[in-house]
Amino acid sequence: MPICFDLDGTLGHFSSGFVLLREALGGLWGATPTVEELERCGGSTDWEIVDELHRMRFGRSLDEAAYAAYGTACVARFRAAFAPGGQEAVGFRGVLEGMHRLAATHRVWLVSGNAPELLAFKADVLGIDATIPRLGSLPRHDRTDLLKSALRGCPGPHLYVGDRPHDLAAARAAGLPFLGIGAAVPGAHMNLTRDAAADHLIAAVEATLGLAPTRPGPSVS
Ligand SMILES: [Mg+2]
Repeated sequence: MPICFDLDGTLGHFSSGFVLLREALGGLWGATPTVEELERCGGSTDWEIVDELHRMRFGRSLDEAAYAAYGTACVARFRAAFAPGGQEAVGFRGVLEGMHRLAATHRVWLVSGNAPELLAFKADVLGIDATIPRLGSLPRHDRTDLLKSALRGCPGPHLYVGDRPHDLAAARAAGLPFLGIGAAVPGAHMNLTRDAAADHLIAAVEATLGLAPTRPGPSVS
């Protein structure tokens, strides 16, 4: 029963992430992609975005070696920017706690558009337990493909928890119910605020999946 969580905007955020992405590519490609070029990209995963920018600059698609070089360069930028004394990531503490509590009794995955090494870095910074599987952006896969990979071989019901319309669209395309974090994904599904308490997240997941509510254990006197 994989309950899949997006990372950025769902479990926390790392400000200036797209600046670091552009700078990393600038260092590799000799010219930094512009904000306008980035805004023309339609994908929501690092592979899709870097591939689109590569096509704009070089007129051909990205390959695995160039994508790996991007991942290495980008995570180096993040490590420098978010080093002690530098920028600080923001974790949504209630959502993070709720995810960890769910992981004690359910299969929980991170399914994110970050390149795998960047996802690993961000998950570690946010204190996410290393036993929770992390599925980052893979070559020639969109977000729907990633979700389908996480679900493969696992019995349902499944769920995607995300913060953006592209998360909702991917959940629909993969046939998953959706739970929104923040205000950017209105719809018929349940939505929680970024500062939701762990209990609220767990209750919303259980309600969305039609699971019996978790009850507190018997008190000991
Ligand atoms: Mg997100």
